[in-house]
Amino acid sequence: MSVKGDLSSSEKQLFNVISTGNVQEASRLLGCKDVRVNCLDEYGMTPLMHAAYKGKTDMCKLLLQHGADVNCNEHEHGYTALMFAGLSGKTEITWLMLDAGAETDVVNSVGRTAAQMAAFVGQHDCVTVINNYFSRARLDYYTKPQGLEKEPKLPPKLAGPLHKIIMGTNLNPVKMVMLVEENPLLLEAEALDKCRRVMELICEKCIKQQEMNEVLAMKMHYISCVLGKCASFLKDRDDKLDGLTKSLLKGRDSDGFPVYQEKFIRECIRKFPYCDVTLLQQLVRSIAPVEIGNDPTALSVLTQAITGQVGFIDAEFCTSCGEKGAQKRCSACKMVVYCDKACQKLHWFTHKKVCKKLQEQREKQEAEAAKLRMQQSNEEDKEANEAADATQKLKLETNSNGNSAAETAKPVSSEDADN
Ligand SMILES: [Zn+2]
Ligand SMILES: [Zn+2]
Repeated sequence: MSVKGDLSSSEKQLFNVISTGNVQEASRLLGCKDVRVNCLDEYGMTPLMHAAYKGKTDMCKLLLQHGADVNCNEHEHGYTALMFAGLSGKTEITWLMLDAGAETDVVNSVGRTAAQMAAFVGQHDCVTVINNYFSRARLDYYTKPQGLEKEPKLPPKLAGPLHKIIMGTNLNPVKMVMLVEENPLLLEAEALDKCRRVMELICEKCIKQQEMNEVLAMKMHYISCVLGKCASFLKDRDDKLDGLTKSLLKGRDSDGFPVYQEKFIRECIRKFPYCDVTLLQQLVRSIAPVEIGNDPTALSVLTQAITGQVGFIDAEFCTSCGEKGAQKRCSACKMVVYCDKACQKLHWFTHKKVCKKLQEQREKQEAEAAKLRMQQSNEEDKEANEAADATQKLKLETNSNGNSAAETAKPVSSEDADN
């Protein structure tokens, strides 16, 4: 147990080094015998709290590797490392703390949780990270029989794959179907129905708990809808989930816009069972006036509400599954990107109908851009020629008058000043 402010000289050095961000030096100090990773400065702050507050990601990683206690609660006002992470505005550090097991419902001396503190200082991305976090322990609760139950609501073997889906930040339903297909345990209607019911129970809990978490409630409900859809496709068809993926990807003839996917996501949102929730009303207000096929899509509105991610317009999202960082471009039209060959192959049945059109569009755009560039450079040439002419003229005048241009201009400006 550390006493506040009782620091060895190496520990004092460690606190100083943290602010500089020198990870190597910090690592050296942590190796010293007289350095405790959970030592406390005079305010009861640990090195981890300092690193989190200063926004030093690598330093936080280092301290956690050395066994820093993420839930140390000795700070004079009851601040935790997660609260400092939220205050810093660094989402990555907030993630690190949560991953290391930081409690989200601990309150400080004025009764605020980490999410509330981050919201108070306007760090909304950190609020989203905290509100989206769902620990494995919270899910594992459902893998044990409760009360009079003979069997748990969730078979323990399903908790892992389901948790992976819950923790995902890519809400594209195609990606979620891929995650279901990835795991044979999930690829059964009965298993999916169980997962779906647990998602709805967690959704209900998020709404009814003392600190309502609308974001997580909406996410759980959405996952439940996607899993429910998978289950109904598995019951009705024998092509696994290929049919569902195709329906979700199929673009309409005019412009390739995936109408079924858009309608499905809109329906999921509308089916959210708690009508007075503000987040639901906001979503409906953003989506309802948008004609199908126009921006913003229901997926982008939902994603922004749940994960805080903006900027779906960037070309780097896979056209099939929505994963970020896609770089493989369709070689014909060069207008769509995919993660890899598999994602491209998945999309080809519908993309092939608009690929040529897109290619023509791009060529037309490029031709117009080239024409514009040509005009611009012509104009620039003209301007440059005119400027050269003027200089030439000035030189001639200067030579004939024997005065510099600046001097010839002078009398005019002094006359102006006199008037
Ligand atoms: Zn993809
Ligand atoms: Zn193409």
